[in-house]
Amino acid sequence: MAGGGTAGAFAAVASARGGAKTALIESKGYAGGIAVEGGCGLHSFYNLWNAFNVEKRMVVRGIPEEFIQRLYQAGGCSGHNETIMRPEYDNDTLCVDVEKYKYVILDMLREAGVHVLLDTMAADVLKEGNRVTGVVTESHQGSEAVLGKFFIDATGYGDISARAGACFTEPNDYPVVNSMGVGGIDIDKYYAFLRDNGGLIEYARGTRSGKNNQIIRVDGRWSQISGSLGDAAKALGMSSVTTTIHDDYLMFIKVNFKTAVSPSNRDALADAEFELRRRQQASLELLRKTILGAESAFIARTAPSITIRRARCIECDYDISLDEVVNGVHFPDEVFSYGFHDSAPRIQIKGGKTYGMPYRTMLVKGLDNLFAIGMMITSDHEAHMATRNTVSCMAMGQAAGTAAALCVKQGLGRLRDLPYTKLYDALKLGNVWFDAEVPYK
Ligand SMILES: Cc1cc2nc3c(=O)[nH]c(=O)nc-3n(C[C@H](O)[C@H](O)[C@H](O)COP(=O)(O)OP(=O)(O)OC[C@H]3O[C@@H](n4cnc5c(N)ncnc54)[C@H](O)[C@@H]3O)c2cc1C
Repeated sequence: MAGGGTAGAFAAVASARGGAKTALIESKGYAGGIAVEGGCGLHSFYNLWNAFNVEKRMVVRGIPEEFIQRLYQAGGCSGHNETIMRPEYDNDTLCVDVEKYKYVILDMLREAGVHVLLDTMAADVLKEGNRVTGVVTESHQGSEAVLGKFFIDATGYGDISARAGACFTEPNDYPVVNSMGVGGIDIDKYYAFLRDNGGLIEYARGTRSGKNNQIIRVDGRWSQISGSLGDAAKALGMSSVTTTIHDDYLMFIKVNFKTAVSPSNRDALADAEFELRRRQQASLELLRKTILGAESAFIARTAPSITIRRARCIECDYDISLDEVVNGVHFPDEVFSYGFHDSAPRIQIKGGKTYGMPYRTMLVKGLDNLFAIGMMITSDHEAHMATRNTVSCMAMGQAAGTAAALCVKQGLGRLRDLPYTKLYDALKLGNVWFDAEVPYK
């Protein structure tokens, strides 16, 4: 397993629980990835029940939901709460404390028996024919090779797949981001400012600092408040959406910047790191000036490095299309169901339905034993706006980890040889929800 982020951590837990000897190689000193560095709410465990007045269904369950329950018990998330005002976007609001998230996910990984290699870079691969036989790592201990039967690329950047010779594109179709946590600013005041000035488009209430029914998420449009505020925020790439589970603290304020070339380019990345830190300082000034009572606000946390919405897009056996996403298509080899699209209501999954994610979407084309999971699959930008979201990535993680462990147990040589019925049964046992009848049952 390379990459212990949003998808990879769940893959490693699933693989170890499935009985496979599992190593997780993560370049940072913690697991969690963009879910703890860049995101806001976790989109989404549910279908769009309110938008279409249909049955409310929790469509992602399994290890991701088990994790959320543990995080909630640890006081690290808001739990599931209904979103108010914009039912056509996401009906479930789930906000996290990023530090608790990092701790609880590591605890789960260790408990499952995963050998967690932190501060360790997956730098290269060893290969024989169509098989990856090992991942070369770099750490303070030196260069080593982690050998294995099956591998999962969850690096976000697709580093392992690219090194292994997979085909890929680099669409460079999103801005990169450094999200900051801002202290000394009250979300109630933030909410009131947007509401009273006609800029509020969405909010949610939930548990904050131990009290129920508090504002935990706010989104709006700076440009609806005034042209000059809209222009200033736009020039800085500063989003208005924010979440928190603490008084006097905003967990995420996103600051965006569009690089000229793909963020896999080293020098483009370095320039973006600098530019985003400049923009964060200016965004803080704008917030201090704009929000009443935020005059002493300060940056309490930034991501250790920029977060991306994608770099490489790895070619896999199947590439799910926008048409399949929005029409809620289900597949004979699907591994989970999902019901959120980040461009809703402009692009929406019709009728509060869900689509299925086929097993084939995670099989790296031309390689026998490598999965690609997380943001690095799905070439169509608009389809990717659904598949890349956190909860979808977590569910992919459980699917790939479960499948890899089954392949080990069955003594298989190729991920493609795993009988779907075995995978389906194992996923069901892992409490994965299938929102549609799977043909073989
Ligand atoms: C700024 C931003 C805001 C977002 N907001 C939301 C939101 O509000 N809600 C939502 O649902 N989704 C949101 N998304 C989308 C979602 O967060 C991501 O698509 C998803 O988290 C990606 O998960 P991943 O596992 O593919 O990548 P990551 O979570 O980035 O995981 C990759 C991991 O691999 C590690 N790594 C990378 N290269 C190597 C290497 N060579 N060796 C070892 N380790 C390596 C990284 O350190 C990281 O931990 C947002 C994305 C961004 C960028």
